[in-house]
Amino acid sequence: MTTVRYCSACGAGLPVAPPVTCAACGTSHWSNPKPCANAVIVERQRVLLTQRAHSPWKGAWCSPGGFCERGEHPIETVVREALEETGFRIRVTGYLGVWVDDYVDGPDHRENEVINVAYYLAETMGEARGDVDRSEVSDLGWFGWDELPSPLAPPGTLAAVLQAARNAGSTPLLDRPQ
Ligand SMILES: [Zn+2]
Repeated sequence: MTTVRYCSACGAGLPVAPPVTCAACGTSHWSNPKPCANAVIVERQRVLLTQRAHSPWKGAWCSPGGFCERGEHPIETVVREALEETGFRIRVTGYLGVWVDDYVDGPDHRENEVINVAYYLAETMGEARGDVDRSEVSDLGWFGWDELPSPLAPPGTLAAVLQAARNAGSTPLLDRPQ
């Protein structure tokens, strides 16, 4: 039995990575996914994608978005992140769904590196303004549905997300923050 980590409550060795309950003190250790929210911004049959400036998936193209902050509604996350990453103020118009993916490069799968991403359909409000955060985004552009760049990220799911946005449409926003 290999001890991979220690209980944060009592210091005893844990036999496996979380989720696991400490045999010495009974404390539960969890391995929860991280909530994220991304915007599929569409205008005139073209979708706005950003190229990632850092790992994982450096150089791959993704939809604007990111990690939800504590207490933040995912709709607020996509509005905030889209402005930071594209310079566009956006209006979220519908809900697409949640896709679950690994947040890692290559085949390695480490604990706590899973993301649950809520995707929203959105449109821009006016012209782009402000600077794009170049630490996050190295390039951005509008792409026709049949002219998507490669590779896409997350590699396991974004193609399906964009296909859903193109074909299936979105659902109403019954939980839009006021
Ligand atoms: Zn313990």
